[in-house]
Amino acid sequence: NQTVYTFGGGASLDDPRAKDKTVVGGKGANLAEMASIGLPVPPGFTITTEECVRYLEEGGEFPVELRRAVGEAMGHIERSVGKRFGDAGDPLLVSVRSGARVSMPGMMDTVLNLGLNDATVEGLAKVSGDPRFAWDSYRRFIQMYSDVVLGLDHGLFEEALEIAKEDKGLYNDTEMEAEDWQALVAEYRDIVEKELGKPFPQGVTEQLWGAIAAVFDSWDSDRAKVYRRLNDIPAGWGTAVNVQAMVFGNMGETSATGVAFTRDPATGERAYYGEWLVNAQGEDVVAGIRTPQYLTRAAREAAKAKPLSMEEAMPEAYGELAQVFDLLESHYRDMQDIEFTVERGKLWMLQTRTGKRTAKAALKMAVDMAGEGLIDEKTAILRIDPMALDQLLHPTLDPDAPRDVLTTGLPASPGAASGKIVLDADTAEQWVARGEKVILVRVETSPEDIHGMHAAQGILTARGGMTSHAAVVARGMGRSCVSGASAVSIDVKARTLRIGDRALAEGDVITLDGSTGQVMAGEVATIEPELVGDFGTLMEWADRHRRMKVRTNAETPADCRMAVQFGAEGIGLCRTEHMFFDARRISAVRQMILAEDEAGRRKALGILLPEQRADFAEIFRVMTGLPCTIRLLDPPLHEFLPHSDAEFEELADATGYGADHLKRRAGELHEFNPMLGHRGCRLGITYPEIYEMQARAIFEAACDVAAEGGDAPIPEVMIPLVATRRELELLRALVNRTADAVFAEKGRTLDYLVGTMIELPRAALMAGEIAEEARFFSFGTNDLTQTTLGVSRDDAGRFLSAYVDKGVFARDPFVSLDIDGVGQLVRIAAERGRATRPDIKLGICGEHGGDPASIAFCEEVGLDYVSASPYRVPIARLAAAQAAL
Ligand code: ADP
Ligand code: MG
Ligand code: MG
Repeated sequence: NQTVYTFGGGASLDDPRAKDKTVVGGKGANLAEMASIGLPVPPGFTITTEECVRYLEEGGEFPVELRRAVGEAMGHIERSVGKRFGDAGDPLLVSVRSGARVSMPGMMDTVLNLGLNDATVEGLAKVSGDPRFAWDSYRRFIQMYSDVVLGLDHGLFEEALEIAKEDKGLYNDTEMEAEDWQALVAEYRDIVEKELGKPFPQGVTEQLWGAIAAVFDSWDSDRAKVYRRLNDIPAGWGTAVNVQAMVFGNMGETSATGVAFTRDPATGERAYYGEWLVNAQGEDVVAGIRTPQYLTRAAREAAKAKPLSMEEAMPEAYGELAQVFDLLESHYRDMQDIEFTVERGKLWMLQTRTGKRTAKAALKMAVDMAGEGLIDEKTAILRIDPMALDQLLHPTLDPDAPRDVLTTGLPASPGAASGKIVLDADTAEQWVARGEKVILVRVETSPEDIHGMHAAQGILTARGGMTSHAAVVARGMGRSCVSGASAVSIDVKARTLRIGDRALAEGDVITLDGSTGQVMAGEVATIEPELVGDFGTLMEWADRHRRMKVRTNAETPADCRMAVQFGAEGIGLCRTEHMFFDARRISAVRQMILAEDEAGRRKALGILLPEQRADFAEIFRVMTGLPCTIRLLDPPLHEFLPHSDAEFEELADATGYGADHLKRRAGELHEFNPMLGHRGCRLGITYPEIYEMQARAIFEAACDVAAEGGDAPIPEVMIPLVATRRELELLRALVNRTADAVFAEKGRTLDYLVGTMIELPRAALMAGEIAEEARFFSFGTNDLTQTTLGVSRDDAGRFLSAYVDKGVFARDPFVSLDIDGVGQLVRIAAERGRATRPDIKLGICGEHGGDPASIAFCEEVGLDYVSASPYRVPIARLAAAQAAL
């Protein structure tokens, strides 16, 4: 296999590896692809990701074969461009760019203008006829190379530039003359020599290998590791290195650079969208050094901005660019994120990739593109990341709520966010760890801020455009973001800031509206989202293609209503214990627990019966005609015990027992390991009257609601924590007896099912026998994970993140099902259950029911439904459709 692949300049692309992202990275693959469809791509070559992995494993060695292959590939560039690398008369310059399999914005470092030294800069000045451009390129190169490869603080160089400008009374970099840049280069060289104790490297081959090593090394930088962890990117992928002939956007007024999207990445609108800068190099646009200008006339006019758009200033290059947009969209059949440069009027393409987008834009584009015939309905369904829907399922700002608007910036990433102002990423992380909601406010973010951006509810920056680091990363993370709010000025030392004429400090609450760019003082009221428009359309398509039903885990009427609105087709898990914690009821629950005998317990249960009946009646009314799985009491009684003296006193008053007596009784109930203690069906076996009361409440409520007319409720009574057939046999008989009694009293019968949760390994293994007693199984994968792994979910926090970091678990097994281990038990139970009872209903009700990867597994095993929390219902509907396709 080749270690290096060339592209552009007529290079052959016959080897499929040359366009394979896993081999040449995303950037390399797309550069090769663009060259192959005839777009103007500066020639270059890509060193494979495999070489990166090898380099990192072998401790930074470059094998001879690689050196030879790179030498040959440099020859390819030299021949296509007609310049030689290191030629003092007419030098070839290259960029050295990283490019992993998936795009990691700003994570890896790029070096531009490589190949300049004290001799070649003179040659470049002469052949270009533009000394200013040559010296500008050289100072850029020294700064970038020193930062990225030599590890010097870029602040040193920025400071020197600021001072140089101040001395000349200049404000913009563009006002600097050739001599000014030349003088700055001299200073830069001094800085390097002083910091490093040796001069800036003059050998161009040394420069090249230094940059290649830096790109490889950056794969293991701290910021890359953070990004990988947040995005589940394996450490073993490595990054490719792209070396490419430079084209220059900084050759004066007929040159420019820009980034663009073929559709609006924030709204999904079908309009070219982008930013550009005249007389600049690539990094200038994203780094927020100068405020970029609008690409299209329409966008400029809408923003009432003065500087000409590219459409107006460079109509020819723009026209060509627009054609490229259309070509790329129809080629990739998706929205593209593009980098381009115009060198003296000639357009060059430097990158294309599938553009990151907000969830809202993703939906709109998928639905639109299906309408345009660019993709089909199935592709549209598959294109939406189910988890991204989360962004749309959360509240937005109430349009009628009063707003105290401080300023308006750019609407960089939509969504409403309120929180306390924090001024740096570490503080953001610390405050969030102690339970605060924060808004990260920065002049501009950089990759070092990723952890803070992730922790924050939203991000506000003073500088940077819609394609700045902050904007791109926020959209990817689904954080709301307002960028380029120039009225914000920050004093990091004093931990204060001003927004317009208002003084604020770290800790003050603000609200961001990422859809309008508004920044408001205090917290602004929000409203619930509705599933209409594109969301509704896509959900309809998803529903057409999925096989599994989607239910919800809910126990309050409000949650049930929300879930039904989100498309839930029943309740998969109604946890009755949550209903017992109500202040009024907890006392009756405690009386029941602490009672000495059955009579005492029945007395307390008599108080709870009407309350439970009312709970269930309300739920049945919301869920008319839909199946409702109600789990009988599950948690250890231990959890309901009183704690404080006051609680014991109150109970003493209610029961007539002394507080001391009650404390002694509570002591008797104490358990060492309640999770494996007196809980679940064990309560039903020892205190049948508890389950009897609950069953009675269920059937009485069901009969009452049926009597009101409409579709009859469909109760499914679920017995938790069953390990043996006999447990279920005893408790099913109890439920059936109770149902018969209630039906006789009420003079009507209803269909209902009795089944069990499968949440113990023994139950999974003995599922064949247990199915004799069960009409349905619901996989309680939370407990099944705990009991299979022997890991307590509540105590796992201390070691689980280390386990994930070290690759023991690929993902947190409580978030995404451990398919290899726990999944096997699910599979066995499903098979054995079906062997006994072919029409047994199978579902899942653990947290995993809302996790797309786990849902795909449920489809594979053939479960009948998944059940998720209300907000996850649409996610589950989409994930179930994707799993079925
Ligand atoms: P990133 O992945 O951070 O965007 P890139 O490798 O794409 O890094 O490069 C950073 C910037 O430099 C981009 O704006 C890109 O367009 C520009 N650039 C990269 N290579 C060249 C080149 N050969 N000629 C001109 N500009 C380039
Ligand atoms: Mg790029
Ligand atoms: Mg359980």
